[in-house]
Amino acid sequence: MAKLLIDAMHINLGRWLRLLGVKTVIPENFDDNYLLSYSKRLKLILVTADKQLYQRAVKRGINAFYVKQDDVAYEIAYVMHLLRKKISFSYNNSYCSICGNKLTPIGRIKAKRLNIHSDLLKRYERFLLCKHCNKIYWEGSHWKNINRVIEEAKSYERLLDQ
Ligand SMILES: [Zn+2]
Repeated sequence: MAKLLIDAMHINLGRWLRLLGVKTVIPENFDDNYLLSYSKRLKLILVTADKQLYQRAVKRGINAFYVKQDDVAYEIAYVMHLLRKKISFSYNNSYCSICGNKLTPIGRIKAKRLNIHSDLLKRYERFLLCKHCNKIYWEGSHWKNINRVIEEAKSYERLLDQ
């Protein structure tokens, strides 16, 4: 599976792509030369909204996607289209939006051991745990918004696939 390297203008997009199971690096340093050498060295696909940077990458033989800043749902659909990957959220294939490491699906028993609040344990059956940064995710009220963006992205996906 391709790994992406995100530029400064696509940090939000990068977090979405992580959620949707695309291994995505959001670096600490967004200097152009750093992005170029980093993507070259680790064979990452550079995702950038900067046309000049994109052209420099291509000239150096770096795999790069030029993604203009747009509605994030469209950006998601466009990147997934370029990756030839279907948009879907799965508990078994999702990366931590904060640190980018793979998430582990856990049930109530494990979540209880991790001191998840009892109200949440009553309301939700499944959680996602990042073993790296210890963040735990669940389909709380904000998830409605997440689903809305994913559905929007899927409608763009259908247009792009035509
Ligand atoms: Zn994490």
